Amino acid sequence: MFYHSKELQYNARVTKPDPRFARLLLEQFGGGNGELKAAMQYFVQAFSCRNAYPDKYDMLMDIATEEFSHLEIVGATIQMLLTGINGELKNTMEDMEMMDFLDGKASKENYIHQALYNPQFCVLTGGGPSVTDSNGTPWSGAYVNANGDLTVDLRSNIAAESRAKIVYEYLIKFTDDEYVKDTLRFLMTREITHFQQFEAALETIQPNFPPGIMQGDPKYSNLYFNMSPEEDATGPWNQGPSSRLGEEWQKIDQPQTFVEETNGLIDLQPTGTERTEDAVRNLERELGRARSKEVKGANPTENMQWSKKFGRDNTDCDVIE
Ligand code: MN
Ligand code: MN
Repeated sequence: MFYHSKELQYNARVTKPDPRFARLLLEQFGGGNGELKAAMQYFVQAFSCRNAYPDKYDMLMDIATEEFSHLEIVGATIQMLLTGINGELKNTMEDMEMMDFLDGKASKENYIHQALYNPQFCVLTGGGPSVTDSNGTPWSGAYVNANGDLTVDLRSNIAAESRAKIVYEYLIKFTDDEYVKDTLRFLMTREITHFQQFEAALETIQPNFPPGIMQGDPKYSNLYFNMSPEEDATGPWNQGPSSRLGEEWQKIDQPQTFVEETNGLIDLQPTGTERTEDAVRNLERELGRARSKEVKGANPTENMQWSKKFGRDNTDCDVIE
């Protein structure tokens, strides 16, 4: 269950209203890299590791709940930045002498919209945050990445934290309000923290590369296709050993000839690698057995109960007749 405290995780403050920045900040409320996305992503991911990986479940739920706390901080900041943006203000503006000089209803609306920057704040949300990004695009469940494999999910989370961090960094440049900057710096810092936590969790899972159980074909895993021959660049992505499998990169400078001479890569023999087809099959069998043992061993298939604290057998409770 969720339990709500009236206090924010960080004491958000605002010097004065600023509807312009409130609109930009919506990006971190209902946008693709925002706090709601982060909260929902970790929350949804947590379900599948509840029994098999209780330590990761605990971490995912802790960080998900912290992200909901960030959502609350962003929402509260937007609310403060929109102080005065409500029906009353709109009426006041309608009555302003200025309005007499504006010709027609459309130009009046235009003036109000420009003044308030985001028309949705006054005509739709009544001066509060909306579950949209800064352009008014509604939040979508499509932002949430959860693939049921922790090595995949944790990498998605490292990427998500990187994006959330950089969006806060961009946002900080668009406000002069020192209080708001403090809040954004706190929120940005926490994404740096989460990045490391997800990375550390990933390292506790070994092996964690490649994601999943199936191994790559040793014929193709270390090929670099030089698809644009002019001004070639070399680096550890096409020279020396590969980062994870430690295979020697094979740089193919004439991809077209190479493909033709190998019967469309079918007849290619592995080079620069110690991995063999037999070794790969064995590893897949081994990994498959280990993973299914972890998952099956942890998940009962009948008489299931989510809570661990309550007695498993609830049939002996008093029946009131
Ligand atoms: Mn956050
Ligand atoms: Mn985060």
